[in-house]
Amino acid sequence: MTAGEATGDEHLTVEPPEQWATGLPAVRHALQFSLQHTSLRRTAINLLTINQKNGIDCPGCAWPEPNKRHLQEYCENGAKHVNDEATTRRITREFFREHPVSVLATKSDMWLNDQGRLTEPMVKRPDSDHYEPISWDAAFELLATELHSLDSPDEALFYTSGRLSNEAAFLLQLFVRGLGTNNLPDCSNMCHESSGSGLSETLGIGKGSVSLEDIEEADLVFAVGINPGTNMPRMLSSLEETKRNGGHVIAINPLPEAGLIRFKNPQKARGIIGRGTTIADQFLHIKPGGDLALFQAINALLLAAEDADPGNVLDHDFIDRDTTGFAEFAEHARRIDWADVLEATGLPRDEIDKVVNRVLASKKIIVCWAMGVTQQKHGVATVREIVNFLMLRGNLGRPGAGVCPVRGHSNVQGDRTMGIWERMPQTFMDALGREFGFTPPTHHGLDAVDSIRAMRDGRAKFFMGFAGNFVRATPDSELTERAMRNCSLTAHVSTKLNLSHAVCGRTALILPTLGRSDRDVQAGGEQFVTVEDSMSNVHQSHGRLDPASEHLLSEVAIVCRLARHTLGQAPAIPWEDFEADYDLVRERISRVVPGFEDFNRRVREPGGFRLPNPVNERTYPTPSGKAVFTSNTFDRLQVPEGHLVLQTMRSHDQWNTVPYALNDRYRGIHNGRHVVLVNPDDIAALGLADRQLVDLVSTWEDGIERRAKNFRVVAYPSARGSAASYYPETNVLVPLDSVADISNTPTSKGVFVRLVPAAAGHRPTAAARSDEELPAVRS
Ligand code: SF4
Repeated sequence: MTAGEATGDEHLTVEPPEQWATGLPAVRHALQFSLQHTSLRRTAINLLTINQKNGIDCPGCAWPEPNKRHLQEYCENGAKHVNDEATTRRITREFFREHPVSVLATKSDMWLNDQGRLTEPMVKRPDSDHYEPISWDAAFELLATELHSLDSPDEALFYTSGRLSNEAAFLLQLFVRGLGTNNLPDCSNMCHESSGSGLSETLGIGKGSVSLEDIEEADLVFAVGINPGTNMPRMLSSLEETKRNGGHVIAINPLPEAGLIRFKNPQKARGIIGRGTTIADQFLHIKPGGDLALFQAINALLLAAEDADPGNVLDHDFIDRDTTGFAEFAEHARRIDWADVLEATGLPRDEIDKVVNRVLASKKIIVCWAMGVTQQKHGVATVREIVNFLMLRGNLGRPGAGVCPVRGHSNVQGDRTMGIWERMPQTFMDALGREFGFTPPTHHGLDAVDSIRAMRDGRAKFFMGFAGNFVRATPDSELTERAMRNCSLTAHVSTKLNLSHAVCGRTALILPTLGRSDRDVQAGGEQFVTVEDSMSNVHQSHGRLDPASEHLLSEVAIVCRLARHTLGQAPAIPWEDFEADYDLVRERISRVVPGFEDFNRRVREPGGFRLPNPVNERTYPTPSGKAVFTSNTFDRLQVPEGHLVLQTMRSHDQWNTVPYALNDRYRGIHNGRHVVLVNPDDIAALGLADRQLVDLVSTWEDGIERRAKNFRVVAYPSARGSAASYYPETNVLVPLDSVADISNTPTSKGVFVRLVPAAAGHRPTAAARSDEELPAVRS
């Protein structure tokens, strides 16, 4: 069992999955949750300002806000996220005196989160089992001393989660490169790295090309491997507009998620009293990992349609002017093996034909995708094949058409733009070096998976996390926990307690920081920060609440002080000025990062500004200057006999690694998270029974048995041959070396598992001991 694993299931109830998402229940749940966690006043301030033009950017997902905003421009989950952060509960030094680190390591993610906001810096010394208070100065001195003691800066890792603002991210990468390393792993390594790789290679830019207006204008939107009802709920408002404008939606997913079926928009009367809007006109119940085969089949059928009606199916003008590699691609695509396609997708041929008919009837097509595509061995190839698909009919660089990787964390895209990447292009490094008068290191750094390997092998000894919960977000939990404990020092910049504070290095620091909703006052006055959403809009985020404690520092201040203690005056960078006035940071960003010219003025315009995307100008920063058709091969997944393909997933009551409750309302699961959703025919074929207690055992070529114990089998309308279970509890099953080709992203949506009846008397884990201390009232 990994540290923190916990959740009993004695009160588990299962209902049929919901057939629609949102509506009034979402409003009720959001308010109920908010008022349980914070005061009426703080709830009101947050909800009146979240996602408004001068308000707080929701720390949830990265779905953009429309230009014309409602008074309530947020979803159930966004309301929960800001008000969870605005909790009135506090963790004091007494708490740490009463709770040894070894005990905290046995607590559930939910319990840890529920203890409230961190209030002062704390240190755990090597010979101690307790955190104790430490001054900020002493904490920075400790960090600097540790960094100076390393044999090489490459023994240090600086992890970032998507909550970091543009300003903090820019300064962090500047500090890290000033130190002499590119070790900047981030959460994007584990989610959309496959999108970045596939898009950069084919289009020359690793970002989506569409805007909200494009989504609304499209004739046909594909939603592939995505669960918007839970992970980016306001995407449903956009899809509703697509539908109302006469467009269609095709949903492709192993689970028939409620939000893909029907949406009741709580901002509209028809969503409250009516039946709402049907989202998916066609739902493809695909097997996990079948998307590459599906898009290859669609592409082959489009080529066949062109053969049958030359000059009237493909966009030859676009192909000739904008692309390269078409002939090789077409030759490869025509050799498709239909037996492989039908086996890989689990779809009947006529379903695929129906898709092609819809494509042929549509002039403007967008493909949206998320982790169901990227966290597969062929994630990069699938993204490339999606680009092939769009290019065949010229669905790039014009209104209502394009690529749309949907990011699940608020500033994950902006952090990349600011330089948080272990292998930023040389043009960026040159501009950074010129601006600050130093030579950034040229050798590539480590991504998230390679960072774990380095800690495991003793090649990395220092880990510092800026937001996030590294040991829970990453794969192969037992190995990752051992790797983290192998470090001489770990430090986390956090708002709330999580398991990475308890599964830590020999010395460990907790550095409490301001949340998004907190007011940020520095020597130069009140500050705001900026973020970039999934569609490249850059705008302000401005917290309005009194901070949780007078001892909190902003993320910008923490980076600046760390840099001053560690780097001194070499290179000569005005860290103190940056901390006092974030405008000075933005001024530097505008001189280093393309697209940010006149940053301070433009970001003060209501709603900010949109970064240019060359694809929309029909220029492609690839080596050939053209968009690139690619030929992608897929090997049929060789699923061992008696195994299912497991995907890890979030519940509706969850934010990243933190469950807010033991419920997953849309999927009908209540009071339990140790469940595995399996098609009833697979349950019967495996000789199991609904609600049987099983262990999940993953199979991988290294021969190591990875086991997640005590899960209830739940009969569910999942695709045949698949299983689904909650993250982070089942991260333990994802082998560290099972990664997507090229992107090194863990294959969390493609894990081979056996379901083994749990041993007699083998009862749900001791979770209950942790969770019985949770507040009684839960949504
Ligand atoms: S859709 Fe995403 S960004 Fe918008 S309120 Fe919900 S969680 Fe926040």
